[in-house]
Amino acid sequence: DAAINRIAAGEVVERPASAVKELVENAIDAGARRIDISYADGGKTLIRVVDDGCGIAPDDLGLALSRHATSKIDGSDLLDIHTFGFRGEALPSLGAVGRLKITSRVLDHDAAVISVEGGHMTAVKPAALSGGTIVELRDLFYATPARLKFMRTDRAEAQAITDVVKRLAMAEPFVGFTLRDVSGGGEGRVTFRTDAQTGDLFDALHGRLGRILGSEFADNALRIDATREGLHLTGYAALPTYSRGSNVAQYLFVNGRPVKDKLLVGALRGAYFDFLSRDRHPAAALFIECDPHLVDVNVHPAKSEVRFRDPGLARGLIVSALRHALAEAGH
Ligand code: ADP
Ligand code: MG
Repeated sequence: DAAINRIAAGEVVERPASAVKELVENAIDAGARRIDISYADGGKTLIRVVDDGCGIAPDDLGLALSRHATSKIDGSDLLDIHTFGFRGEALPSLGAVGRLKITSRVLDHDAAVISVEGGHMTAVKPAALSGGTIVELRDLFYATPARLKFMRTDRAEAQAITDVVKRLAMAEPFVGFTLRDVSGGGEGRVTFRTDAQTGDLFDALHGRLGRILGSEFADNALRIDATREGLHLTGYAALPTYSRGSNVAQYLFVNGRPVKDKLLVGALRGAYFDFLSRDRHPAAALFIECDPHLVDVNVHPAKSEVRFRDPGLARGLIVSALRHALAEAGH
């Protein structure tokens, strides 16, 4: 029932930034090349994500809002149920904790719109949109006062949204992103913007990292590219001279999704062990790609931890690849 749905939804959507993460990931999955994100009052009153991806057909709009009705697993592989344990949860969860409206258009169809409030869906109606999808989430947690109470200041929630968008933008250098604060209405104020990068993956990533982390990081970054037993590691790691006083400049991704994982952070630390004092932290943006069966990225939807089938392999790959790059750079 509605109350149970709201409790379950709280597992997936803890705060405005987690809603933004789910919506932007959906836009990326839809093949978008441009993603525009707007928020008002730290995302508490409005989050809007506009993409130019493949869209949702009118007949599928209701389905997209139904629990576990994801189009992204085919069910033929039992393991997928585990790997994608939290798939097909985001939109239904958002519909349970806020006022959700989805307008979308696929090729060869007219645009359509559907709304859901407190878990109750409207009928699908015709709409005007030239392509892609607009998802609008208003009044997050309006029906859950207990959760509302735990939200932080608008400023803190806006900061969390910005962090989420920047992390996702790092993982998708060929996609353009715009983030706008539209508190008070109107066009709002662009708080972050990065155009789609061009060139090969390393060029694009280097350009994107420079845009997000600053040219000092980019100028001091070593290119990482290594493979071991089905695990591919790419990205950039900074010279020890560009270390930080905390781990704020560590960005780790597994299969395109941002993660914050003790094992990976420990491996990064281990690689620089001989070159940094205990109070200095390496800066890096590292991407691990592997068969989804080698890693469980859904230990918890909001906590972004991962579980590798072979943790030693992941650790060894990071330590050896980074040490190799540092040695080549004269360390
Ligand atoms: P999941 O992403 O795990 O499949 P969601 O609840 O996030 O589950 O989304 C449900 C479904 O709605 C997706 O599988 C996809 O088919 C569709 N969908 C959601 N957002 C978009 C979007 N921006 N563009 C196209 N399709 C979308
Ligand atoms: Mg999703």
